[in-house]
Amino acid sequence: MRVKLAGFNVDAERLRRLAGGGDLTPETLSAAYARISRSPLAIDRLRRQSCRDVEKARRSNQRIIFAMGHHSVAEHAVFNFDLIGVSRLALEEIEHFRLASYTEKSQRYVTLEGELVRPSELRDPALRALFQDVTGRQFRFYFKAFARLHRLLRRQHAGLLSNAAGQRLVEGWAKEDARYVLPLAAGGQVGMTVNARTLEHMFRRWRLSPRAEVRRLAARLHALVMPVAPSLILFPEPSAFDRESFAAMDGLFAALPVRVGRPAVAGPRIVAASEGGDDAILAARLAVRRGLGLERARALFAGLAPAKKRELFREFFARVQFFSAMPREFEMADVTFQATVSASCFAQLKRHRMATLLSGGYDPGLGVTLPPSLAEAGLEVEFHRIMSASDAAYRRLRADCPAAADYVLTNAHRRSVLMRMNLRELYHFARLRDDEHAQWDIRALAHDLAALVRRRMPLAAMLLCGKSHFAEEYEKIYGTGPEGSAPIASSD
Ligand SMILES: Cc1cc2nc3c(=O)[nH]c(=O)nc-3n(C[C@H](O)[C@H](O)[C@H](O)COP(=O)(O)OP(=O)(O)OC[C@H]3O[C@@H](n4cnc5c(N)ncnc54)[C@H](O)[C@@H]3O)c2cc1C
Repeated sequence: MRVKLAGFNVDAERLRRLAGGGDLTPETLSAAYARISRSPLAIDRLRRQSCRDVEKARRSNQRIIFAMGHHSVAEHAVFNFDLIGVSRLALEEIEHFRLASYTEKSQRYVTLEGELVRPSELRDPALRALFQDVTGRQFRFYFKAFARLHRLLRRQHAGLLSNAAGQRLVEGWAKEDARYVLPLAAGGQVGMTVNARTLEHMFRRWRLSPRAEVRRLAARLHALVMPVAPSLILFPEPSAFDRESFAAMDGLFAALPVRVGRPAVAGPRIVAASEGGDDAILAARLAVRRGLGLERARALFAGLAPAKKRELFREFFARVQFFSAMPREFEMADVTFQATVSASCFAQLKRHRMATLLSGGYDPGLGVTLPPSLAEAGLEVEFHRIMSASDAAYRRLRADCPAAADYVLTNAHRRSVLMRMNLRELYHFARLRDDEHAQWDIRALAHDLAALVRRRMPLAAMLLCGKSHFAEEYEKIYGTGPEGSAPIASSD
């Protein structure tokens, strides 16, 4: 066996210094790997050939991707981007993609200094003044709320203030709740790692964005990436299908007899789920281990006594720890739920990539999420006053400059989501989010969802809970604690 480190990502500024004007591109890796399937040469020799003649490597990439449709070779080229000064609203479109990695400045940990992205669609001076006025009020209230909450929480948690970590924790709680009044126009930054194939897909989507900010971002990234990897980004333009298919369908929806009533608000509601999720997981395992047809395996478990099935899962989970990843068989059971979530909750929810997440637009008609601490600090009335001003500005912009309207809504505004997760991902989600270190809004969603899923799949989901409660839940089943380490208290 020969194993070689063929490449890794290095800071672009260092690369430029090292290259001294030489031709630096990740395309040679894609070109060499693309030739593996047909060439008798060892991969390291293919790589050397690609590096010797970069133009030839580029032509080869274009032929293989374009003519043969062997698109996956573009995944071997990976880029890192610093995206600075983008709005919270644009971040939602940026982080929409599953096959990419993001790390974002959290509004939970950073005190915002009034950073704001003004949408370039706002050309009318009166609308600009409106935007400036409402976002100014939101930011001023943010600072006031933060100071008030910080004082309140310091009083309530005086015991935590003896060390710097405790002080940071209390300050984080104040920021976490004060941020609900910040507009979606608030600026943020994200580090994004993405391969050329996903990047091309992003370009196609972002060029269709209703927001100039996102379209401009696509143009900037395209300009940055094309000199480095021209042979890997071949289809950045949206097709007629991308552009028009939903518009055509939505047009026909208008003729359907749908009564528009009050939107259904609330916590998670399971609207679809695998029939017999517990059996589905057991049957999948048995079918592949014993070479049975899945229908036969399902029939076998359908007829098995519940106590026997419980025994199988008890045995399976006996060695589980709070950090254990569930195996693929758990993907055979899934649930689909609907919920109404705040923008703040959505910002966290969307980061769970191994799921299908569809969302409606922000809608002031769905109400707002008031952090209980703001009410406790006596700020409820002022909070609602700011929300009313935000709604009024939204309505005006919606009529006169629709692309700018969402920017003045806040982290407290809501949208509805339709989300499907399999039980493997649900375990991961619950461990992180139904946990005492999770932010309260998404924690409430995760907690309610876990309870609903446990009712549907009482055996396979018997340990579906946050990591902070894992030992307790384990003990309820086994009468003794789990083996191994306890979760580390996170400062996040
Ligand atoms: C308390 C807390 C604080 C946080 N603070 C911040 C913060 O300040 N800033 C910030 O940006 N985010 C923050 N996050 C979000 C966090 O970093 C994750 O993005 C989010 O929790 C989604 O979880 P995940 O990435 O593990 O997996 P998911 O996207 O849910 O995917 C499930 C699993 O699939 C695998 N997987 C998915 N994609 C990949 C991939 N590309 N490569 C390898 N494996 C993959 C991993 O095993 C992963 O655990 C925070 C989360 C928590 C719980």
